[in-house]
Parts: sequence; C-alpha cells; structure tokens
Amino acid sequence: MSAAPLLQGRTGDWEVVIGLEVHAQVVSDSKLFSGASTAFGASPNAQVSLVDAAMPGMLPVINKAVVDQAIRTGLALGAEINLVSVFDRKNYFYPDLPQGYQISQFSKPIVGKGVVHIDLPDGETREVGITRLHLEQDAGKSLHDQHPSKTYVDLNRSGVALMEIVSEPDLRSGEEAGIYLSKLRAILRTIGTCDGNMEQGSMRADANVSVRKPGDEYGTRCEIKNLNSVRFLRRAIEIEAARQIEIVEDGGTIVQETRLFDPDRGETRSMRSKEEAHDYRYFPDPDLLPLSFSQEHVDKLKAALPELPDAKQARFVTDFGLKPEDASVLVADADRGAFFEAVATGRDPKLAANWVMGELIGALNKSGLELEESKVSAANLGALIDLIGDGTVSGRIAKQVFEVMFDTGKEPAAIVEEQGLKQVTDTGAIEAEIDKVLAANPDQVAGYKAGKDKLIGFFVGQVMKATQGKANPQAVNEILKRKLSE
Ligand code: ADP
Ligand code: MG
Repeated sequence: MSAAPLLQGRTGDWEVVIGLEVHAQVVSDSKLFSGASTAFGASPNAQVSLVDAAMPGMLPVINKAVVDQAIRTGLALGAEINLVSVFDRKNYFYPDLPQGYQISQFSKPIVGKGVVHIDLPDGETREVGITRLHLEQDAGKSLHDQHPSKTYVDLNRSGVALMEIVSEPDLRSGEEAGIYLSKLRAILRTIGTCDGNMEQGSMRADANVSVRKPGDEYGTRCEIKNLNSVRFLRRAIEIEAARQIEIVEDGGTIVQETRLFDPDRGETRSMRSKEEAHDYRYFPDPDLLPLSFSQEHVDKLKAALPELPDAKQARFVTDFGLKPEDASVLVADADRGAFFEAVATGRDPKLAANWVMGELIGALNKSGLELEESKVSAANLGALIDLIGDGTVSGRIAKQVFEVMFDTGKEPAAIVEEQGLKQVTDTGAIEAEIDKVLAANPDQVAGYKAGKDKLIGFFVGQVMKATQGKANPQAVNEILKRKLSE
C-alpha cells in the first residue's frame, strides 16, 4: 500500500482522514414507494402522487425495479447482499417532508460491506471499504425565490429513490476522495443504476473529515454536506483539513459538527453541532413488511451484470497493451470505454488511445462538454486515424482536421477535400520546393555541410512552411538529406 499523503503544519506532518456518504438517485421510471414519475425538469408538483404528498391513509408499496437496482449496485461493489432488510422511519419535521418522516434503512440495510478499488496518482491501487448501502426516500424542495414573502414547496423529488453509499474512513486527501467519487460514478453509470449527473443533483456527497498526527487514533470529524461536484468535494476537504489543523495547532479542539461548503468564499461554515443533532427516533415502518428476496434472484441479477470498469481496465491493458493509468482514464466513464473500443478495433490501439484521450477528451474538457455531446463520432475519429495511416494527411494536419471535425461533426475525408489538405507525396513537387529553399539559403547550406547537422530542422521547417504543412515529412527529410550530401 502506498504511503498516505501528508500535510505540513507548523508542528509537523498531518494525515487527513476522510469517509464519504454518497447519495445516488436510482435510475427508475417511478419512485421508491409510488408510481409517480421521476423524470427531471417537470414543472413543480407535476409528479406527485397521493403517497408522495402524504395524504392520510395512503400506503407505500415497494418498487421492485428499485430493489433490483440496489442489489445490482451492491454486487458491482463486491458487497454482501442482505436477503432480508428493514425499512425504518427517520422522524423529523421539515416543510419539504410532508410525511414528517423519511422512509430509510437504519439497522438492517439491503447491502453490507463491500470494496471499491481506486488508482492513485503514484500508480498504486488502494482498496476503499464500503460500509453499507441503503435505500431511502428523497425529500421535496423549498423554493424561497418565487415570491417576496412566501416560500413554496415542490414535491416532485419527494419519494424518489436514493441509494446512500457509505464508505469506511479509508481516504487520505481531497484528491483521493475525488478519485473515489469518480470511480463510484463510473461503476454506477456502467451498470445503469444512477445517471451520475451531479449538476442535476443525481449524485451528491457528504464528506466526513478529520485530521491526526500519523500513527495517532482518528481525530474528531466534521461532516461537510451536499457537495455536488468532484471539484467542490476536493476543495471542501482541502479547506476543511487546513481549518482543523490550524485549530489544533493553536491549542484548540475540533467540535463534531455539520458544516456547509461555500465555494465563493472558499470556506466551510458551521450548520449545526452534534449537541443540536436530531434525534430521529428511528423505528421499523409499520406500513412495510421486511424486504426479502431469494439468493437465486441475486444470482440471476449478478449473471446479467455488464463488464465492470475494473475488468474493462484489465482487458484494455492485456488486449490493447495500454498503460494501466491510460486504461483507467478510458474506463472512467461507460461511454468512453465503448467509444475507445470502437475507434481502436482494427487499428493501432495506442494511437487510438492517444487520439481519444489527448485530442478528444482534451477538447471536450476545454469546452466543458460530455462525450455524448461530442460531434465527433467514433467512426469519424477512426477514419481520421486511417487517413494518417495511409499517408493522406500528416499527423500535424490531422490535428487541424480534428479541430474542424470537433466544431462541425463533418467527415474527415470531406474536410481534407474541401480545404485542400491532402498530403503532398509527389516527390517531384517536394524536390522542387526543396530546391527553392536550398537556393534561397546558401549560408545555412554551407553551415550544414560544415557539420551543423541541426540545421536539418531549419530546412524541414522552411519546406513545410512553403507547402502549408502538406508535404510528407518523411519524404522531405529523405530528399533533403540526399540533396545536402550531394
Ligand atoms: P453517522 O451515522 O453519525 O453519520 P457513521 O459512523 O455512520 O456516523 O460514519 C459516517 C461516515 O463518517 C462514514 O463514511 C465514516 O467512514 C466516516 N468517519 C467515521 N469516523 C471518521 C473520522 N474520524 N474521520 C473521518 N471520517 C470518519
Ligand atoms: Mg451520517
């Protein structure tokens, strides 16, 4: 196992300890205990059944599809599946919670201990323990910005199924927590149990953070609520760890509390302390029987799981000869892996990996787009690589073609044709350009002949400039060397 990254304080090194509680909205057409739709973006209160509005006498009915999704997620996390689990009422009052309690799972969750492997920046792999996964209802949403003096409530989310996935305190930096969250997201997206859309709130993390001197017992933790991007998660942890170190080094103690991250001010702020913590008075929901299913049912779901990111990564390393860290980038998203495979099949896989990771993912990141929004199809990117392979364009021109593909989605051959970018391989034409360049630069020719070998780069550059980069670089090099040694 690799050494934990340490933070330097005034009094020496500090180790940061982090455990995450991730809420993931279950992919399902309807809610956990009602038939109302879960589609995103509907007008307020358009998707609220009598159960979700907690009308008197309404009874919850478990959604079997959601249960299967939780089992599949547990299996993908290599976790124990509990054939019997219990739904509890978590009691609290909040305007967006009409029932007056949330139906959740407390002492007997549907999924127990599991593990997620993360690839660390130093090339090591770390096992992050999963403590549990349980099913629970989401709450509604209070709208404070619709009216100057009134608060409205939107119950569309009320009753939507969430999986809460709790990790062991096995993470040691904001960066590691970010890698873990990305990996978890990749797993859930691969098996289709959560769409992982963090901007829409489909996935959000609470980070428990504490600090200690290496070798000491765990310190007192604070919990930072509702982090809705990998970047915010990282920053919030880094800022919170620095805050705690400063307090302890100044002789203070950490108070266990819930905190909010304010990205604009770059700080975490206290929400409520442990003393003010709710007593939820959990008890088994009398409206619901214990949830039970057979081992055969679990086995059937397991057999039908798609290839998981770890397996895909291993296969990319063995079948395509990729470096593990490159393969991990390509499996970080279900779409990426499929896209890469489509480009790589029948082509040089390393070249394909370079184009997908370097050019395409680079351009997407720069423009803030997801792969599914990309105008460049796998077929067209493959066709571009083929144009390099058969000498139609040089690698350099190919990058120029790629930029047009990225903006327009056109086929590479059409772009090459339209813009006259075809590589000049006609040696006669190249020779003519070389003759002109040599004639125009007699001093450099003399210098080269006197032993300044590096001047070859100058001549190549001049020829390329004269041909707008279209001359075949290999032919240019060969003909130049021949002519200069004449
Ligand atoms: P609670 O029920 O109060 O939320 P849990 O024991 O379930 O407490 O822990 C919640 C999360 O806090 C878990 O992800 C766990 O890994 C993490 N955690 C527990 N102790 C620490 C600690 N000392 N430092 C950082 N994280 C911790
Ligand atoms: Mg908690």
